[in-house]
Amino acid sequence: MKILVANIGSTSLKWRLFHFVGEQEQMLHKGGLERVTDYPQAIRTCLEQLQQAGHIQHAADLAAVGFKTVLARGITGCVRLDERVLQAMEAFNSIAPAHNPPYIAGIRLFAQAMPGVPLVGLFETAFYQWASPAAQRYAVPESWYDLGVRRYGFHGASHKYIAERSAELLGREDVARRVRQLYVDGGTTPVRSPALRVISCHLGGSSSITGLRDGIAVGNSLGMSPQSGLPHNNRVGDLDAFALPHVLRQTGMTLEEAERQLCKESGLKALSGGYNDMRDITARAQQGEARAQLALDHFVHAIRHWIGAFLVELNGADALVFTAGIGENDFGLRAAVCRDLDHLGIELDPALNQQTRAQEAVISSPHSRVKVMVIPTNEELVVARETRRLLIKEQEGLS
Ligand code: AMP
Repeated sequence: MKILVANIGSTSLKWRLFHFVGEQEQMLHKGGLERVTDYPQAIRTCLEQLQQAGHIQHAADLAAVGFKTVLARGITGCVRLDERVLQAMEAFNSIAPAHNPPYIAGIRLFAQAMPGVPLVGLFETAFYQWASPAAQRYAVPESWYDLGVRRYGFHGASHKYIAERSAELLGREDVARRVRQLYVDGGTTPVRSPALRVISCHLGGSSSITGLRDGIAVGNSLGMSPQSGLPHNNRVGDLDAFALPHVLRQTGMTLEEAERQLCKESGLKALSGGYNDMRDITARAQQGEARAQLALDHFVHAIRHWIGAFLVELNGADALVFTAGIGENDFGLRAAVCRDLDHLGIELDPALNQQTRAQEAVISSPHSRVKVMVIPTNEELVVARETRRLLIKEQEGLS
């Protein structure tokens, strides 16, 4: 079974082709286009590249195309992307303005380019369905909740990958099996005691932290929108709700301009004075630029805040995992996050930390109670796996 996973940006298309034979899984092809102005042409180029590489003859050779969809009103999980789902995504365009509109447009173009090929979305919110009701609420009037004002959580594909892989690496196949089965049985696969407690830190262009008890997310630092939680490269992170009306009243700024500034001109970019790549921010901080140092310090402060929240929620941790572009590569940031946490059982091995880039490794000292790990994430693989599972479930339902 060949499944294409398409990652849609407003001006980019990236893809990976996976091949499943029984329980064997293989990535056959990886490609992408930047600065896309003609999206239908970009989809044709993607198919041509798969044909030229000899992986498919026609689009119909694809069992499905999977998408890492972000958020839809009243819908989550892994679902077929029919018109009903696209409209539910549209209904939440204003919550995910950088994500939903390009995805909806791109999915419609894929449907035109390859009629008959199932299009499937794994929603980024899906992984948090089993968090407690308390962790999914804001303290707003019921009428606001009815409009969708609640905590959803995002980066579900990435944190699910970390939940499964960390369990495998920690010798807890029982927990890994539960994570694999999650969207089939809703987390009822039995696991043994003691509970496996993992804190997963996805630190990249956008960032979030999740607490995992026996592979199930107890919450996520991202709340109602992908602009919340930790500060992101250019998106704001958590902000007091009263900041927005205050700025609008004081300046006469339009709501649209305020939204643009919160989505494109905030986060680490705002604090550092214009840099939104951690490598640039670190270099400027090392050269003594105070604003770059402030951006770094604020990021570390926010990360430690959320790690602390999940340490309490989970009654400690067995592992603290770093993943995504910054988490996998930036040993200086990992060191800053783990500084002075020995009383909580977190002690890095400086040499192991420094030599670990984008590879699986334990970077804590042997006597650290909490294992600190680096695990490169693989969100596309999670989308492909869940897409395959949905197709199999549908086929079983028909037979
Ligand atoms: P991601 O969203 O996971 O693709 O992460 C992208 C971000 O990771 C970039 O914007 C950089 O800030 C950061 N990044 C990538 N490589 C490094 C590195 N070697 N050191 C520090 N940060 C990095």
